[in-house]
Amino acid sequence: MKNFNMYEIITKKRDGSILLKEELQAVIDGYVDGSIPDYQISALLMAIFLNGLDMRETEDLTGIMLRSGDSISLEGIDGIKVDKHSTGGVGDKVSFIVTPIVAACGVKVPMLSGRALGHTGGTLDKLEAIPGFNVFLEVDQFRSVLNKCGMVISGQTENIVPADKKLYALRDTTATVNSIPLITSSIMSKKLALGTDAIVLDVKTGSGAFLPDINDGIELCKSMVNIGEKSGRKTLGLITNMNEPLGNAVGNSVEIIESIECLKGKGPDDLMDVTLALGACMLIAAGEENDFAKGIKRLKETITSGKALSIFKDFIKAQEGDPGVCEDYSLFGESVSSWDLISDRSGFVISINAFEIGMSAIDIGAGRRKKEDQIDHTAGFIFHKRSGDRIEAGEKILSVHSSGKEDRKAVEQRLLNAINISSGVPAKPEMVLYYADHSGIKEWSKA
Ligand code: URA
Repeated sequence: MKNFNMYEIITKKRDGSILLKEELQAVIDGYVDGSIPDYQISALLMAIFLNGLDMRETEDLTGIMLRSGDSISLEGIDGIKVDKHSTGGVGDKVSFIVTPIVAACGVKVPMLSGRALGHTGGTLDKLEAIPGFNVFLEVDQFRSVLNKCGMVISGQTENIVPADKKLYALRDTTATVNSIPLITSSIMSKKLALGTDAIVLDVKTGSGAFLPDINDGIELCKSMVNIGEKSGRKTLGLITNMNEPLGNAVGNSVEIIESIECLKGKGPDDLMDVTLALGACMLIAAGEENDFAKGIKRLKETITSGKALSIFKDFIKAQEGDPGVCEDYSLFGESVSSWDLISDRSGFVISINAFEIGMSAIDIGAGRRKKEDQIDHTAGFIFHKRSGDRIEAGEKILSVHSSGKEDRKAVEQRLLNAINISSGVPAKPEMVLYYADHSGIKEWSKA
């Protein structure tokens, strides 16, 4: 590092001072080119975790990370292009449903997605449950699938925001993921690397979110919307409920199957509420609609007409997967083992802890404990009862499909602890809580 001393930069942040843009630039340059070691970056990340970054530092860090690698230009592709990004959750399969329904309204939806992180599932892992599906497209292929199908979902190429690849891996192992400025710069640098016209953010809140507290969710949402808007992209955000898993399925093939069912008009209410609200934001961000209710109506029509499902099949085919899975779920293959979790009491399901369900999904083979672990795509949970439902002793709460290697007693106990059944009738949880745009944040019901 030329004029900056990493030790002094760490000290400054440790003591609560504001870092200069040039200092942040030197940190990222030095980390990407290997001249600053992991241990010094870890110390700085922890200082940022504890003392934060102000908005100017967060904007600078995002821009510097963005410029650490290549961008994907979407010039020459007709139509308005809108990206949607979720901060991550359990059972979050919204991308597979919202992308074709919005594409069916004439808006192009390109997405660069990731793998499972911690207790949360990964879009790419879920898509790989489809036989033959290719999640790694070259830039030309990415543009061509988008042009042809109106949607594309792919992993990031090696040189998109390389700074985030290195930083994220380090944050994952140094307990520094759950930081508002670090999440903002990580997500927004990747969003800005894709040349869309607009960005819609789904910020999760509740037990299954990286930032479970609603006030942190609001801050994160405001921070990301602000950076998107300042970068010249129309950016909208929703804060949605991730207190319990979204939809009835948690896993890989089971989540793709549930998404296909949604595209056939048979989706569960909680999942459809979140999907349609995000879809309406995407239509508004694209300038296709100016009214949420009208947008939702239009999106529902793409399901009833079969157009959204047809786009999803074309997309699977264009990315080398077998679109036959949409009609024949046996093509996903069967899990090695299946068993049911039975309730030992009667009452109402009061809550289901999404974080614990996400961790249990790893226990049964649906996720990874270590980076190099293989996922069992057929492993997952299907919930038969959800919060607010009545259940009798001896009834099934959920079905487990597993790789057969789990300690069944331990998984059963963990699941039973995660699901609170008691007397008293709870209200069904609200799914969409807040809406944010350039003018600020308001309750979704008043948006
Ligand atoms: N997802 C990301 O891409 N980055 C984060 O920091 C958290 C979630």
